[in-house]
Amino acid sequence: GAVTVGFIGLGNMGVPMVTNLVAAGHTVVASDLSPDARARAAAAGASAVETAREVAARSGVVILMLPDSNIVAAVVGDIASLLAPDSLVIDMSSSEPLRTRALAAQLAETGIRLVDAPVSGGVVGAVKGSLTIMVGGEPADVDEAAAVLAPMGRVVRVGGIGAGHAIKALNNLLSATHLWITAEAMEVGERFGLDPATMLEVFNSSSGRSGSTENKYPNFIFPGTFDSGFGLRLMLKDMRIAVQLGEQVGRPSVLGADAVGLWAKAADDLEPTADHTRIAEWVRTAEGG
Ligand code: NAD
Repeated sequence: GAVTVGFIGLGNMGVPMVTNLVAAGHTVVASDLSPDARARAAAAGASAVETAREVAARSGVVILMLPDSNIVAAVVGDIASLLAPDSLVIDMSSSEPLRTRALAAQLAETGIRLVDAPVSGGVVGAVKGSLTIMVGGEPADVDEAAAVLAPMGRVVRVGGIGAGHAIKALNNLLSATHLWITAEAMEVGERFGLDPATMLEVFNSSSGRSGSTENKYPNFIFPGTFDSGFGLRLMLKDMRIAVQLGEQVGRPSVLGADAVGLWAKAADDLEPTADHTRIAEWVRTAEGG
């Protein structure tokens, strides 16, 4: 049945996710540091409050959709004493898997349960309620979370605590690496005299296809809008999480480490708020240009 759901982090993803929770009949108590973000959540039908502590005091299930593990740890530290024992915290941010495990162990001392439930599908998927939600945790907790998560997308049970965050980071390492090499291939082809739309058509019916050729190029890069709603800095964070995970498990990713270096160099040149799809333009104009 419908429960009161707390939601902290009302950015590009959080607001449309809240909209779908409200549409499914949940009472949502939401907060963000930004007053503008709180106003958007209120317009979506949530009860917007100023602080995360007010959210925690009013909800038995609290969803986090924050930038990274540092902020998740700070917010959880702030609200933990206000959460009822047996509360369920669902971290939908793209966080660091080993820190997620540590946080779960820490919360368990006071009976609070944590599951990780990061998503893919971007802002479009958040709006449509068609996200892929990769959920890690104790099976009973995952079942409880799944009922709340359903209006936002398709729940995939991926393993124990931290499994969702690991698979999310690895997915984005692939996605970011695909985007870079796609931009290089497109640039080489164009200089040879190939038509970009023709290249894309062939890649998309061949083995070179990816989320970059099927989605990012046609929707955000060719139109020149660069408005996917996923920031370059957030993508770089995810790549670093995946590469660090490789080190942590004793299997460093060679190409992954190179991709992080390349993206980091581009990030130095681009606006801090740039969309991650700007990388394609940067590769074209700066890298080797
Ligand atoms: P965003 O930057 O648009 O939103 C983050 C929000 O968190 C902002 O509104 C910010 O004000 C708020 N915030 C920051 N610190 C806070 C604090 N201490 N207390 C309360 N609020 C705070 O980011 P986003 O694009 O919505 O992404 C959120 C998470 O989801 C990230 O981990 C990101 O990597 C991941 N993600 C994003 C996408 C996407 O397409 N945008 C897709 C999948 C996953």
